[in-house]
Amino acid sequence: MNNLENFSDGEPSNTETVEAVQPITLVGHFIQGGLVSKTSRTQAVYHPATGAISKEVALADSDLVNHVVHIAQQAFPAWRDTPVIKRARVMFKFKQLLEDNAEKLCELIGQEHGKICHDAQGELQRGIENVEYACGAPEFLKGEYSKNVGPDIDSWSEFQPLGVVAGITPFNFPAMVPLWMFPMAIVCGNCFILKPSEKTPSAALYLAELLKQAGLPDGVFNVINGDKQAVDALLHHPNIQAISFVGSTPIAEYIYRTATSAGKRCQALGGAKNHAIIMPDADIDNVVNSLLGAAFGSSGERCMALSVAVAIGDEIADLVIEKLTHEMQQLKFGHYTDQQNDFGPLISQAHKDKVQAFIQSAERQGAKIVVDGRDAKPVGYETGFFVGPTLIDQVSSDMTSYQQEIFGPVLQVIRVETMHEAMQLINDHEYGNGTCIYTRDGEAARYFSHHIQVGMVGINVPLPVPVAYHSFGGWKRSLFGDLYAYGPDGVRFYTRRKTITQRWPSTQIREAKQFSMPTLN
Ligand code: NAD
Repeated sequence: MNNLENFSDGEPSNTETVEAVQPITLVGHFIQGGLVSKTSRTQAVYHPATGAISKEVALADSDLVNHVVHIAQQAFPAWRDTPVIKRARVMFKFKQLLEDNAEKLCELIGQEHGKICHDAQGELQRGIENVEYACGAPEFLKGEYSKNVGPDIDSWSEFQPLGVVAGITPFNFPAMVPLWMFPMAIVCGNCFILKPSEKTPSAALYLAELLKQAGLPDGVFNVINGDKQAVDALLHHPNIQAISFVGSTPIAEYIYRTATSAGKRCQALGGAKNHAIIMPDADIDNVVNSLLGAAFGSSGERCMALSVAVAIGDEIADLVIEKLTHEMQQLKFGHYTDQQNDFGPLISQAHKDKVQAFIQSAERQGAKIVVDGRDAKPVGYETGFFVGPTLIDQVSSDMTSYQQEIFGPVLQVIRVETMHEAMQLINDHEYGNGTCIYTRDGEAARYFSHHIQVGMVGINVPLPVPVAYHSFGGWKRSLFGDLYAYGPDGVRFYTRRKTITQRWPSTQIREAKQFSMPTLN
C-alpha cells in the first residue's frame, strides 16, 4: 500500500513500503487484451469537486513502453491483413457498446474530470461520431484506379497502414479526444498505443475493454498510463511510426520537434485563444445565450471555448455586458451528478491557482472585473477546485490574461471601433484554433471567414467544432504538422500511399529496349 501523504498534483511518488489508511484504487494499463497494474511509480488522481484523492494511477517506465510496442508489433501483421470489412465490423459493434455503456463512461469522466453528466454525454456523442465515420473504411480505403495509363498498363494507388502508432491525449476530453484518434488508426489496419492524461486515466481503460468486447484481437489496442517518462519512451522508440498529440502548445511543440527529428510522422494540436466578434447588427439575446455556454461550459476547459468577446463599438459592448452580468448570476456550478449544474470544477488546485492568478493580473494591469468568480464556492463543495464564472471588461492586447490561454470560466471583453480592427487583433494572436462572428450581414461574414487567420470559423456558431466527416485543426501555434485530426485528414495521417503500375503484356508482344524516360509520345 502507498503513503497517500506523498502525493501532490503532478508529482509522482514511489510506491514502496508505507501503509495507507484505506485501500485506494490503482488505475493501471491495458496491454494484450487485459488490465495490468504493474508499476514502480504512481501519481494521485483527484476528485475535483471535493479536492480529495480518489485513486492513484500507475506511471509506465520505458521498459513497459518497450514491452507494449513489442506486443503491438506482434499483433500488426494479422490485423493489417484482416479484410477491411471485418475491421469495420469491430467498429460497428464498438459503437453499439459505447452507446449501451454511455452512463458508466460518463460516470468515469465525471469522477476524474468533474464535468457535469450532460456535458460528458455530449463529449461521448461527439466521440461516437468518429467511430461511425470509421465504419466507412471499406469505402474510404478503396484507393484510386486508372486503367490503361499506357499500352496494357493499369495504375492504382492504395493506402496501407503505417504499423504501430501512438496517441497522447489531454485531460479535458478523456473519451472524445482518444476517439478522434484510435478508431480511425485501427480501422485503417494499424496497431495503436494510447497514453491518456494521467489526470483522467480511467475512461481510456474502459474504452479498451469495450473494444475487446467488440471483437478486437488482443494487442491491436493498448493503453499505457504515464507521464513524461512514458511519452519520451514513445517519442524515441524506433518502431513507433506516427504520433498524434493533443494538449498544450509548449508540449505540442516539443512533441512535434522530437517526433519528427526521430523520423516519425506527427500531428500535434495545441492551445487556443478563441475570439468572438460581436457586430453592431447582431441578435444580442442570441449572442448572450451562446456566449454563456461557449465561455463557461465545461468550466472553460475546452480548446474551443470562446474566451474573448470583441465588441464593435461601446454601445454593443455595454449592452452585452449588462445582459451577461444578469445571466451570469443564474449560472449553477457544482458536482457532476447534479444535472441542474451548468459546469463543474477545474481539474486541479494548481490549475485553479493559475486561473485566479490570471484574473488578478488582468485587474493589476488595468482591466475591470465585472463579475468575479475567484472566491465562489458551491455549498457542500468548499474544498473543490472551483472558480465561478468571471467577466472582465476593458481588456487590452498587451495584458497577460489576453496573450495567454487561461483555460477557465473567464470571459474577457475587448472594445474596438471596426470589424477590421477586431480581425487584426485575432490575426495577430499567436493562436489560431477557433473563432466566430455574430452578425446579420452576409457580406461582413463572408469577408471575415475568407480573411481570418484561424483554422475553424463560426458564423453565428460559437463552437465551430467540425463534425466527424470533416477534420479538426487550428492554424499558427494551435497546430504543429500538416494534417488535421480525424475525418479525411485522419485517413491520410494513418495510412501511407503506395502507387502500383502494372502491365500484363500479351505473349506476342516483347518490349524494345528503351533508355529514355518512358512517355506516351
Ligand atoms: P498537457 O499539454 O499538459 O498534457 C497533454 C498530454 O501531454 C498528457 O498526456 C500529458 O501526460 C503529456 N505531457 C504533459 N507534460 C509533458 C511533458 N513535459 N513531456 C511529455 N509529455 C507531457 O495538456 P492538458 O493540461 O492535459 O490539456 C489542456 C491543454 O490541451 C490546453 O492547452 C488545451 O487548449 C489543449 N487542448 C487542445 C485541443 C485541440 O484540439 N487543439 C483539444 C483539447 C485540449
